[in-house]
Amino acid sequence: MLRPDSISEAVSLHHRYGDESRYFAGGTNLLYMMKRGVRSPHYLIDINSIKNLNYIKFDEKNGLKIGALTKICQLERSEEIKSRLPVVADAASSIASPQIRNVATVAGNLVQEVWCWYLLEGYDCWLNKGKYCYAPEGDNRFHHSILGGNLCFAVHPSDLAPVLTALDARITVQGASESRIISPKQLLPGFFKRDGNVEQNALEPDEIITEIRIEPLWQEYTGVFLKHAVRKSFDFALSSVTLLALVKEDLWEDVRIVLGGIGNTPYRAEKLEEALRGKRLTEELVTKAVEEKTFQKTIPLVMNAYRVRLTTALVKRAIGQVLQPGT
Ligand SMILES: Cc1cc2nc3c(=O)[nH]c(=O)nc-3n(C[C@H](O)[C@H](O)[C@H](O)COP(=O)(O)OP(=O)(O)OC[C@H]3O[C@@H](n4cnc5c(N)ncnc54)[C@H](O)[C@@H]3O)c2cc1C
Repeated sequence: MLRPDSISEAVSLHHRYGDESRYFAGGTNLLYMMKRGVRSPHYLIDINSIKNLNYIKFDEKNGLKIGALTKICQLERSEEIKSRLPVVADAASSIASPQIRNVATVAGNLVQEVWCWYLLEGYDCWLNKGKYCYAPEGDNRFHHSILGGNLCFAVHPSDLAPVLTALDARITVQGASESRIISPKQLLPGFFKRDGNVEQNALEPDEIITEIRIEPLWQEYTGVFLKHAVRKSFDFALSSVTLLALVKEDLWEDVRIVLGGIGNTPYRAEKLEEALRGKRLTEELVTKAVEEKTFQKTIPLVMNAYRVRLTTALVKRAIGQVLQPGT
């Protein structure tokens, strides 16, 4: 275990040891993969020794800044987040179990590997140096795409990813030669770029996430995060909905809808947003728009078509919660 004092030292250690090394934050994903023998890095670069990467700060000009090593439980409990962007706290509190949220970090949640039984069981799939995806012909009841895949059908597992996508978050990363900001436009499909391929995100191997920023304007939106999982207290999403709505005197001036847990990346339901934007919503309009516009196309596998209906039901419920708070 290597314990760098600074971001630059961490990056240069990763640069030196390349594929043989991995950053280690909370370890909840990495150690899980190592215990199952799926990953076996020779060097763990423990970034917890770097000071000043754990913070939640807000100011009116720059908005919310979240350090990469901030724990998920801090997002859940922060008064700053609960009062300004409760949708982030709601998503955080839906993740895994309290024990995992106490150690898992925000950056680790975005970079975690996919949750596919074939990968976890050590099958020689695309993500495990093989040349095959077992999911389309195998057991695809739970964590596989309903939007098609290319090489790999595993879904992006993070619950924070769709929320941060909806909020146009900016991710700051530091590499060996430069620091860069992954802008909102690049988030989809940029950062979460799996797109059915083998890469799990757009980070260069030695790049480290240092900060996540969210603009102050989103405080004015009403946010809803809904998630359905097999075990509600402790599981990955079979489907999740992040809805942000700017509603003035019943007029839906603006709306964002991003779905999680159903595709290789978070999925932005842009056609549905268009159908709702600038309207005063009635039950009839919502039902028709959700049924017809949520997806342009779905490509469910043999056992997971039920998640298309599950998702549209969640979307309707999320809209209903904005129209009639408390429902
Ligand atoms: C039983 C169980 C249930 C779960 N349920 C959910 C769930 O419902 N929803 C959900 O979203 N997640 C869920 N998870 C996943 C969990 O949230 C992640 O394991 C956790 O967020 C990873 O964070 P970590 O800090 O522990 O990352 P680590 O395990 O330390 O790292 C994970 C990956 O991220 C890389 N990494 C870490 N930090 C950085 C950084 N700053 N820059 C670049 N790379 C970095 C590491 O190298 C590694 O590849 C579950 C996990 C388990 C074990």
